[in-house]
Amino acid sequence: TNALLLAKKIDLFKPSPYFTWSIHLDGDKEMHDRAVCQDGVYERAVEALKLAKSKGFRVTTNSTFFSDADPERVAKFLDATTALGVDGMTLSPGYAYERAPDQTHFLNRTRTKDLFRAILRRGRGGKAWELSQSTLFMNFLAGNVSYRCTPWGMPLRTVFGWQRPCYLLGEGYVPTFKQLMEETDWDAYGVGNYEKCADCMVHSGFEATAVADSVRRPWRAAAVALFGVRTEGPMAPDVSLENQRPAEYVYDENIAKLSEIREHEAQQRAEQRSTAA
Ligand code: SF4
Repeated sequence: TNALLLAKKIDLFKPSPYFTWSIHLDGDKEMHDRAVCQDGVYERAVEALKLAKSKGFRVTTNSTFFSDADPERVAKFLDATTALGVDGMTLSPGYAYERAPDQTHFLNRTRTKDLFRAILRRGRGGKAWELSQSTLFMNFLAGNVSYRCTPWGMPLRTVFGWQRPCYLLGEGYVPTFKQLMEETDWDAYGVGNYEKCADCMVHSGFEATAVADSVRRPWRAAAVALFGVRTEGPMAPDVSLENQRPAEYVYDENIAKLSEIREHEAQQRAEQRSTAA
């Protein structure tokens, strides 16, 4: 949530260990208000966060950082948010998705790794902060390991249906989760397979891979948890982009097709109603 209605609606909810308010905060006041193009949003979100904490809710934050992020400032923001008593913070680099209005401030892979190393260096490799993502995802963002994504790890359902292949790319919609899993050509996507994926290191695609790796190699996750994310030294070689297929710009076409289907369905329903009458 952007938390703008949270204070007004909070009494409709009860605290539970199984329920978390995840509040969107893309940095300190200036950074966040600029990211959402509206003054005052940061202060309202922080007030709502404090209110939810005072009422006994679990509260986390989620933050996306872009190429103009200043590591020193981000580190101070993470210090301040940890001091608010949040139950966790999720960090992710921005991704240059096809429909984003601002295409100039997104990060490529090298800049992402440099930025996250610079941020984590200021917080004892992440140990200084109440981060809620896996240590191996942070390790990946710092360039210490290379992963392929698990796009179905955080699937997205929209008014059009289940979005394929992932939260970030809208290249088709299907009505059921079973169809999403069984009919998507997963090998056509991911870093190294598809041009649109080349710069992606986003939480929604790679956290699930990091979690699976933590289960497979718990000693690696334990070492990062104990010593913090390594922020110096060589980075792991990345996936080759040599054989990736070129980008296809299909979003508008898909939405136009879906609108036609919806219109046709509405017409059919109207005809059935008039026949029944
Ligand atoms: S790399 Fe994976 S998660 Fe990222 S845009 Fe491509 S398919 Fe989606």
